[in-house]
Amino acid sequence: MDTYKVGEVVAVLGACYGETEMARAFRDPFQFLVAVMLSARSKDSTTIPVAKELFSVAPTPEAILKLPRHKIEKILHPIGFFRVKAAYAHGIARKIVECGTPTTFDELVSLPGVSRKTANVVLSQFYGEPAIAVDVHVERITNRLGWISTKIPEETEHALQKIVPRERWKDVNRLLVQHGQTICLPRKPKCSNCPISQYCEKIGV
Ligand code: SF4
Repeated sequence: MDTYKVGEVVAVLGACYGETEMARAFRDPFQFLVAVMLSARSKDSTTIPVAKELFSVAPTPEAILKLPRHKIEKILHPIGFFRVKAAYAHGIARKIVECGTPTTFDELVSLPGVSRKTANVVLSQFYGEPAIAVDVHVERITNRLGWISTKIPEETEHALQKIVPRERWKDVNRLLVQHGQTICLPRKPKCSNCPISQYCEKIGV
C-alpha cells in the first residue's frame, strides 16, 4: 500500500477514535509514564483503576519514594507482575527525582521497566512527538491491512516509519489500539462494521 493510501486509512480512523482511555485518565507526565509501564501485559481496564489508586495515595515521584515497597505492591496486586512493577515504579520515581522528567527516547528507555514501546507511547501520546509504538494491535492490524509482513516489533516500527506519513506517526498506536479493541479483534474481527474494510487485504479473515 502506498503512503497516500496509508494516510487515508489513518485519517478515516482518526475520525472514529479520540484519545485513549489511558491518555484521558492521566494528564501528568510522571503518572502517564508509570501507568503505561504498569499496563505492560495487563489490560487497561485493570491497570487504570489500580494506577489511579496508587496516585491517590502517592501522586508524585517524591511521594512514591516515601511509600514503603510493600504498600506499593499491595496496591498493584491486581495487575500482572506486580512485585517487579512496584520495583520499577520506585526506580522510575528515584531517577526522576535525581535527574528530572524524561522527555526524549533515550532518557525514557534508560528508566527501569520502560521498554521501547512504552517510551514511544509516552512520546507520541503525551508529548505529540513523531513516534510509532508497536504493540500486538499495531502488529496484527498493519499485517492484516497488508502494510507490512513483519513479526518483530522493532522491524515493524521501522517498516511503518517508511510508509506512514511522518505527521501521522503519533496517531498510529492510539488509533490501532482502539480499532483492535473494538472492531479488528484478534479472533473474529468485525469486518462488516469496519470503516477501513475497503483498504484491507484480509477482510473476512
Ligand atoms: S476489514 Fe476486518 S481484518 Fe481488515 S482491518 Fe477491518 S476488521 Fe480488521
